[in-house]
Amino acid sequence: MDFTAQETEQFLISLGEPAYRGRQIHKWVHQKGITRFADMTNLPLKLRDKLQTASTPGGLALDTKKTSGDGTVKYLFGLSDGQAVESVFLPHEYGNSACVSSQVGCRMGCRFCASTIGGFVRDLTAGEMYAQIIGIRDDTGARISSVVIMGSGEPADNLTQVLKFISLIISPDGLNIGSRHITVSTCGVVPGIKRLAVEKPQVTLSVSLHAPNDEVRDEIMPINRKYPLGVLIEACREYISITNRRVTFEYALIDGFNDSREQAGELGRLLRGMLCHVNLIPLNEVAERGFRRSNRAAVKSFKDVLEEMGVPVTIRQEMGAEIDAACGQLRRRVLREQDRSERR
Ligand code: SAH
Repeated sequence: MDFTAQETEQFLISLGEPAYRGRQIHKWVHQKGITRFADMTNLPLKLRDKLQTASTPGGLALDTKKTSGDGTVKYLFGLSDGQAVESVFLPHEYGNSACVSSQVGCRMGCRFCASTIGGFVRDLTAGEMYAQIIGIRDDTGARISSVVIMGSGEPADNLTQVLKFISLIISPDGLNIGSRHITVSTCGVVPGIKRLAVEKPQVTLSVSLHAPNDEVRDEIMPINRKYPLGVLIEACREYISITNRRVTFEYALIDGFNDSREQAGELGRLLRGMLCHVNLIPLNEVAERGFRRSNRAAVKSFKDVLEEMGVPVTIRQEMGAEIDAACGQLRRRVLREQDRSERR
């Protein structure tokens, strides 16, 4: 699944086969999600045998799956090296979306996040990201019309593979998903934002802000020491002027930490006048982390302050919280359970 149609053609040529066989195989793998050469019925049997020994097209094993009452399904997929990644299926009236992981673990160290607890393990390849969508589609039988790269990992820390993955899914040879239906979420890796603006200007950029000033942000997001708020917001302004696209700012509300009316005012002053949208998320509490989510009244009044200041804001509809759909929690739970059973 790592190959573009052209790369598959090249590979077939290198095996002494005609290029069009490459395109046929690409369609089997990327559109139908067929990952056994034996099942590619329009290929000559001899070629299927030859391929069987020459290559593996990828595909992920379904390890664990949890379905929540609202239709959200959380998956843990096994990778070929024994690692596992999380992905989520989110059904919406206006089309279904898939949330994919970009890395196993994460090195960004955000203090409220579960993905980062075990540290960074490795980058995913473009094909392993693609295979998450195929895995979800095969299991649900549903059409996926949008993709959010908001699972575990930091996309801007694995941007070359993420950009290739985006090319694969927007391709008519692949899933033909429109760029505007793809969201890349970053904790604020400024060079990544700059590169994205130039290379994939039609995707939606989502920036995890979670704080109205450097003091608060430094405490929860180590990346802020490298790219402080002023630098980050400047990069977002530049992104907007290059792409003309609205940027989303994610803001997870943590009880008594970043959820006061004063902090809402400070955030409003920071963002006022920008082509942006603030998404307020009541924090998903992660047992190991100790942060508490804000109460409803605090969320509401935070929102009111931003609204009064003319900053577009919504409260993110929560989906799948009861199934650990949030942020690396399923992988953590499975790792913890494995750990426990090993100790037994
Ligand atoms: N590394 C990227 C994308 C993955 S995280 C990023 O930081 O944007 C996806 C989103 O979930 C981010 O906005 C992240 O800050 C948020 N998140 C992580 N842990 C969370 C938690 N416990 N509660 C609410 N949001 C959380």
